[in-house]
Amino acid sequence: MLIKGKWVESNRRSEIKNPYSGKKVGTVSMATGAEVLDAAADAKKFSSALTAYERYDILMRTAQEVEKDSRDYVASISSESGMCVKDAAKEVARAVSLLKVSAEEAKRITGESIFTDVVESAKRNLAVTIREPIGLVCAITPFNRPLNQVVVKLGPAIAANNSVILKPSEKTPLTAIKFVKALINNGLPPRMVAVVTGDPAEIGDALVSCPHIDMVTFTGSKEVGEHIAKTAGMVKLTLELGDSGALIVMDDADLAKAVKTAVAGAYGNAGQSCRGIKRILVHKNIEEAFVRGLKEATEKLKVGDPQSEDTDIGTLINEVQALEVEKRIADAVNKGARLVCGGTRKKAQITPAILTNVPRDAAIVMKETFGPCAPVVTVNDIEDAVSYVNATEYGLQTGIFTNDLAKAFYAAGQLKVGAVIVNNGPQFDSPAIPFGGVKKSGLGREGIKYAVNEMTTVKTIVF
Ligand code: NAD
Repeated sequence: MLIKGKWVESNRRSEIKNPYSGKKVGTVSMATGAEVLDAAADAKKFSSALTAYERYDILMRTAQEVEKDSRDYVASISSESGMCVKDAAKEVARAVSLLKVSAEEAKRITGESIFTDVVESAKRNLAVTIREPIGLVCAITPFNRPLNQVVVKLGPAIAANNSVILKPSEKTPLTAIKFVKALINNGLPPRMVAVVTGDPAEIGDALVSCPHIDMVTFTGSKEVGEHIAKTAGMVKLTLELGDSGALIVMDDADLAKAVKTAVAGAYGNAGQSCRGIKRILVHKNIEEAFVRGLKEATEKLKVGDPQSEDTDIGTLINEVQALEVEKRIADAVNKGARLVCGGTRKKAQITPAILTNVPRDAAIVMKETFGPCAPVVTVNDIEDAVSYVNATEYGLQTGIFTNDLAKAFYAAGQLKVGAVIVNNGPQFDSPAIPFGGVKKSGLGREGIKYAVNEMTTVKTIVF
């Protein structure tokens, strides 16, 4: 743990195990509520500690260090999360980009000048706005991307000159600690960031309700997000929660591209991605051809040791999660779905599963299923597809494959989601665009520039 600028260890430890081998990969301290309060009170004093050029330098140099150490990061991510090294390498490359874009944003924080003479009483005034750091940001991150979920919060928080208290996932804290060490190696004042690890049931409420915190930025499940929204009280909140992410494939689509996108979106990181594909809505006229292509591509994937270079699908985070996915596949089959291939479980691994004829109310498609599954739901037309996407409680990102502009426009206008991706999947990502959901998928936006906005407050100065 990093408290008051010092790495401290407690005797109470929690073990981190490799989900594939079951072997211990490390231990971390278990913080107490009192330690969390202490860490937050100290970090609070260190917001606004740096100039823009210092923040730029720290983030840029950290990006270079992460790039240089990419092999170590890949090994760390893979061993604590079970992510295959192919996916972990992509995660490290993305972290480097996120850090570089954060560094650039550190230099772009500006305000406005406003003529106030829209009313008689203010006709002789001029106002300017400046954006100030929000203060102490509490960052709480999930297991599924042990590096990026941390970088996507700490990058903009530091760019905006905030101090941070980070609570990484209790399942994958080791990569997060390694990354914070890199920030400090590259000049971040150690008291500007605190790291607390341990049991969320023990420290979670103490952390989010702590009086020193000005903002909570949380990524994780809907259930924990809703709990945090109630516990945190009157502080700024960004919540990035789950999704039942949909890919729509219309009968005029480029099928080969749609299949390739479906494979990447449904099985990437073994299906444990908030913006991954959790259901595929395929037009009835092309369903047979689409499923044939999907099966062919799916059967080529190699499930195996996450550390092997040729493995495509590693493990889920633990056996409990894999059992849940297995249960949802069985439930869909009981309700009439056909299991085309995959879906078999060995400990924490599941072979990639295609299901067709999936009933629209099955849990596998209505809830967020965090596993390598491609459930196909037949749709009649674009109206039917859009209304079914909108039927779940989530609304993060939806992809639509069509070569008909009218259908693309209809979907863009009618889908109740944070982003509509035309001719790509919901997994599309760029650090330049806003990212976040509507409905139960969350509140606020990430994407570096947009996160900087959330993590700053506007001060108005009137002359
Ligand atoms: P989780 O909700 O179980 O845990 C997320 C974090 O919250 C962890 O650090 C955990 O320790 C902490 N936590 C748990 N209880 C807490 C409490 N009472 N107070 C404070 N913190 C608490 O989620 P997970 O299983 O780690 O991650 C998977 C979930 O994350 C999925 O639902 C997925 O969709 C979601 N996710 C969303 C996005 C997004 O950007 N929308 C990205 C990745 C993952």
